[in-house]
Amino acid sequence: MRLYKFLILPLIGLILSVLAFVPLLSQEGAFYGYQSPLKIADYAPEFGDQTSKVLLIIVDGLRADTADSTSTWKEFGWAIGTLRTRPPSWSNPCFANIITGTWQEFHSVTSNEFEEQIPIEHIFSFTSTSFVTAFSGDEGSRALIGQSATYIFSTPSPESPEEEDQLILEKAKEFLKFSPSFLLVHFNQVDHYSHYAGTLSSRTAQALKDVDNLIMELIQNVDLSQYTVIITSDHGHLDRGGHGGGEEVVLNTPLLMFGANVKKGVEVSGSQIDIIPTVCALTGAPVPRYSLGMPLWDALNVPIEFKAKFSLRILMQRGRFADAYSRMLGTNYSPIDLASMEQTTDPEKLFSSAENAREALDGQIQEWRSQKILEERTSRLWAPILASALILMLIIFAFKGRWAFTLLNAIVALIVFLLIFTQILGLSFSFSYLYAGSFLEFFLIFGVPLLISEILLSLLLPLQLKKAKGQELVKFQQQFLFLASLLLLLLFSFVYYSNGLSSPWHLPDFTLGFMGLALLLMIIWNGLFLVFLPPAFWGLWRLIKR
Ligand SMILES: [Zn+2]
Repeated sequence: MRLYKFLILPLIGLILSVLAFVPLLSQEGAFYGYQSPLKIADYAPEFGDQTSKVLLIIVDGLRADTADSTSTWKEFGWAIGTLRTRPPSWSNPCFANIITGTWQEFHSVTSNEFEEQIPIEHIFSFTSTSFVTAFSGDEGSRALIGQSATYIFSTPSPESPEEEDQLILEKAKEFLKFSPSFLLVHFNQVDHYSHYAGTLSSRTAQALKDVDNLIMELIQNVDLSQYTVIITSDHGHLDRGGHGGGEEVVLNTPLLMFGANVKKGVEVSGSQIDIIPTVCALTGAPVPRYSLGMPLWDALNVPIEFKAKFSLRILMQRGRFADAYSRMLGTNYSPIDLASMEQTTDPEKLFSSAENAREALDGQIQEWRSQKILEERTSRLWAPILASALILMLIIFAFKGRWAFTLLNAIVALIVFLLIFTQILGLSFSFSYLYAGSFLEFFLIFGVPLLISEILLSLLLPLQLKKAKGQELVKFQQQFLFLASLLLLLLFSFVYYSNGLSSPWHLPDFTLGFMGLALLLMIIWNGLFLVFLPPAFWGLWRLIKR
């Protein structure tokens, strides 16, 4: 009988852990293995007139606020601004945002583990003999574009990030001799040293200075009457180094534009997915099929006739997007009346009506998405309701014993955990704290504060219970840990409510999805503690008694 009492709660706790493990693993799969089902049928690429060629320089991991100090920014700061990206803010997903002009939810590159060609159309994938493109960068980014640029250089195994960037510069200079319509150059060392030494370290400052010099050298080889130069980064960095989550310093990326067709002395703010529409407007390249961005008009010095013409092209592209998207979601889309718009002769009027129509479409796309997600969530509302009811019943029916007191302790334990996690360790529930996505590190990040908080509580329990006997203490600890499991179960029911078991058509809610992953580890830890901690403390207590 005593043994049965001793084991029942730990067993239930472990079963709960295992039960939570299965759906949470599928959550992880829904995130890393996510593949957008949106398919837009092929259509003939629509080329426009070329106004200028574009050199796009991506400085991996360069933060918006540290870019200002570079000589490139000081000397060529014609149009300066910031572009916003979205989480998951790792290099591969953000690089894919840039070259497709659309977000992770549509290009399906959700992590750096994605190492093949992006499954949807991007700026390099419609190469033709008349449209020459070139890429010089690291092998990770090269993998995302496949072999689809006219000229490609990547550095598979460089000796050092400095040497790698040097090689990338040399090749970029060589490619410039072919006068490509679009050249993308990707430098790496700033990101490397931000991870390794922190964003504000002198080592990273040195790396930034080196890259600054490389860029200045590259610009010497560029005819600025022919080329528009755009410099940006894929994502920012935390002060301590790290990105992937949704912090301001991570999501804001720098933007610098100068050269052909660029206004002088303007400030620009936009979105990371606006780069490719800008490139297309200038070079005459077709707008990639899945693009959701718009040209950074504020930075451009182009005639209104040009803007009007391009806005019509982008509106047509967006119409096809909206059509395919509405079909996928099973909603109704009524096509825009392009014919009457095309009859407008006043370019000013044409531009504003095309822009308004595009804005309305973009709004509609967002609305369809939210509507569908809301519908799906409503059908899962039972999960948090059931979990809350279960916990409430347990509290009400077991209120007479020490359960209420134990519950209070479980809540205190959770608060202690959160305090250690956020205040002492300075962490948060963000992917930015997972450097290379190491599972062990992730496990420790959550396990150690949880262990400390539970040990602390276990040590305090004997003080709280005056005439406690050893057996009673063990029972108390088991109740406490069991309740902690229940609290985690409640949180998990909300994760399920938000994302479902797998999100087949949209990326799982990032914050909640991450909380889910974190909870998984906390529940495993909790299950382990349930089994090992109470007997250990019982033994210890008996030893002290003697
Ligand atoms: Zn990085």
